[in-house]
Amino acid sequence: LLYNQVQDLKGSIRVFCRVRPFLPGQFNGQTTVDYIGENGKIMIVNPLRQGKDARRVFSFNKIFGTNVTQQDIYADTQQLIRSVLDGYNVCIFAYGQTGSGKTYTMSGPDLTTEETWGVNYRALRDLFHISKARMDMIEYEVGVQMIEIYNEQVRDLLVSDGSNRRLDIRNNSQLNGLNVPDASLVPVKCTQDVLDLMKIGHRNRAVGATALNVRSSRSHSILTVHVRGKELVSGSILKGCLHLVDLAGSERVDKSEAVGERLKEAQHINKSLSALGDVIAALAQKSSHIPYRNSKLTQVLQDSLGGHAKTLMFVHINPDVNALGETISTLKFAERVA
Ligand code: ADP
Ligand code: MG
Repeated sequence: LLYNQVQDLKGSIRVFCRVRPFLPGQFNGQTTVDYIGENGKIMIVNPLRQGKDARRVFSFNKIFGTNVTQQDIYADTQQLIRSVLDGYNVCIFAYGQTGSGKTYTMSGPDLTTEETWGVNYRALRDLFHISKARMDMIEYEVGVQMIEIYNEQVRDLLVSDGSNRRLDIRNNSQLNGLNVPDASLVPVKCTQDVLDLMKIGHRNRAVGATALNVRSSRSHSILTVHVRGKELVSGSILKGCLHLVDLAGSERVDKSEAVGERLKEAQHINKSLSALGDVIAALAQKSSHIPYRNSKLTQVLQDSLGGHAKTLMFVHINPDVNALGETISTLKFAERVA
């Protein structure tokens, strides 16, 4: 098949780092990003300090600077995404502190402008496009699920009745990535179908939250694209799935300040992000025990992390000096899984 030759890098986990630009009026002449090398190296500087200690270099598969477009980002992701049509399971994560650009990468700033569409819409558009081109050989069916994990509870974002009940996770390799079988699985035929679903998903995500942005930064949202292809000549079936994960903000919450609900949220986020880091690190080290059971997030994604699955993590950096502490801990997290 056409896209079977997707490069297998070490452990098939790759890490890309994206530095978001300063927002209008935010630049005060200082930045923590000293330079970005062609070779996947980024140097972080503490402009308030002098000497060798003020600088630190991190390396990843690729670094995207502030002038990179959504199209550029997609160009480096599309091969991986297309492998779903060949029956691979793929996970793409957006990691970073709140405000660092996770949602921008995954969804884009708004749905109306195609030019700034994020990975989500571009991926689906591309999958429809390729499946059409292969129509003579393979008949594809595409279905979408959209869930959120908030305080270690899984909820369907595509329910129309607003009931929004908690869902169970099943782990069994026969499920082929359909690990939340009770979440709505909606068949889609074109990009417009997907855009319509996203609107429902975004609306449901806002339920019960004072501000959408607050809730969305404290929950993980997972858009899963299930693909089933039937080879017309042989009749054989292939199945693949793509998980597009906009993670909860990775920022540490000041324990002396957070109380009640806020503290509980912070503890859940902390726990699930560490669990994710542990799973990816264990996979990268080819460890014999992969600790999937430690969080709902890793349970939901179990079939799509490790084995023949492919993983890509975008880690996001806000270049502001005030974000330096979070920037360093984001890059340390990423270095551990790379
Ligand atoms: P997060 O989802 O990590 O909390 P957002 O994606 O909401 O962060 O980004 C925070 C703000 O920065 C938004 O106003 C967004 O439009 C802007 N932004 C993020 N990344 C970029 C980028 N690459 N180019 C331009 N603006 C960006
Ligand atoms: Mg966001």
